[in-house]
Amino acid sequence: MEAKPDPTEPLDELVSTAKRHLLANYRPPALVMSHGRGSELFDTEGNRYLDFCAGVAVCCLGHAHPALSAALSAQASRICHVSNYFYNYENVMLAGELCAATGFDRAFFCNSGTEAVEASLKLVRRWFHEQGEPRVRLIAFEKAFHGRTLGALALTGTPAYRVGFGDPLPGVDHVPYGDLKAVAGLMGSDVAAVVVEPLMGEGGVIPAPTGFLQGLRELCDAHGALLVFDEIQTGIGRTGKFLAADHTGVAADVMTLAKGLGGGVPIGALLLREQLADGLPPGAHGSTFGGNPLASVAARTVLRVLRDEGLVEAAARQGERLGRLLAGLAAKHPTICLGERGMGLLRAITLTERVAARDILPVAREHGLLLTAAGARALRFTPPLIVTDAEIDEAVDKTDRVLAAVASRG
Ligand SMILES: *Cc1c(COP(=O)(O)O)cnc(C)c1O
Repeated sequence: MEAKPDPTEPLDELVSTAKRHLLANYRPPALVMSHGRGSELFDTEGNRYLDFCAGVAVCCLGHAHPALSAALSAQASRICHVSNYFYNYENVMLAGELCAATGFDRAFFCNSGTEAVEASLKLVRRWFHEQGEPRVRLIAFEKAFHGRTLGALALTGTPAYRVGFGDPLPGVDHVPYGDLKAVAGLMGSDVAAVVVEPLMGEGGVIPAPTGFLQGLRELCDAHGALLVFDEIQTGIGRTGKFLAADHTGVAADVMTLAKGLGGGVPIGALLLREQLADGLPPGAHGSTFGGNPLASVAARTVLRVLRDEGLVEAAARQGERLGRLLAGLAAKHPTICLGERGMGLLRAITLTERVAARDILPVAREHGLLLTAAGARALRFTPPLIVTDAEIDEAVDKTDRVLAAVASRG
């Protein structure tokens, strides 16, 4: 059974209301998405898209997964929100399940990625404060993306995102991703943490170079600093392991999750080792909505479906297939493509200087394929983890035609 879109408002009127009343901080095309099913998305005009954006690596179970829909509607008819003045069953169960899945000991819940990053910054700084050894310096990476609130923004390694917002949070240094020597040069007894994406997502789908995460671990250990992995984009099976860090065996002290965690329902999490548990004592941090029963049941359902349907293994298998086919396409269109990179179902075709990734997106959309750009020159593919062989073949075929059209334009 297909959900029907609300038909009361014609498309052009909706778009004109949007242009008048929504803040103009995004630049969406003039179309309205109505409903989805699996890896497919439909707009209000009835056009079908193959959704290899998946809500920016969020909709890991695809759209309208029956288990997620059922769990949400059952929870909504029981209780949606209680505040953190009380325990709630789904949230406590989720904390235990997430810790079991990741090897961390404790969880704090919030509503987005950037909030999880904020919480990680407060945790590491406050923890050193509680030890009587205050440290505030943080090391992050050029082109890294950690979110848009002012604390997380200070870590985000794209200076343009900080323009006009005043002095950034002090104490943050950026070095090139993968450059252990540069990290070593900045390390010292005043560094609280190194914050890193185990695979750089928004910055261009760049896997960590071999030995990089291990090297960071060693540098942090040598200087008593904490290692924070931002797995907001890479976690929850996206790269073919539950966490991207699981490919290396390197364990962080603190980790952030969001995006795929709720399968489309907003939820973020901060996970930490027991030794940091007193880092945020009562009153030091909080969130009104964080970990509410509705968001928690969504995340529990995602974890259960990942396990029951073998979706982490599927992401590895399908990711390999997608990667192989995209590498073939890149070789077939050498005037605009450099190659392919990524892990699992977080993949990109890298582009030559002749073409900007952002300019390909409307062409792909006209061919019924939704993609995203990651940085200026990476065309990113993040299908739901439930994506089928046939859907991958269809997306690759569409991408072939899109690249041919873009290349012939010159
Ligand atoms: C998306 C993302 C964020 C920010 O998440 P929001 O939910 O948009 O605040 C932070 N870090 C990484 C690695 C991300 O990919």
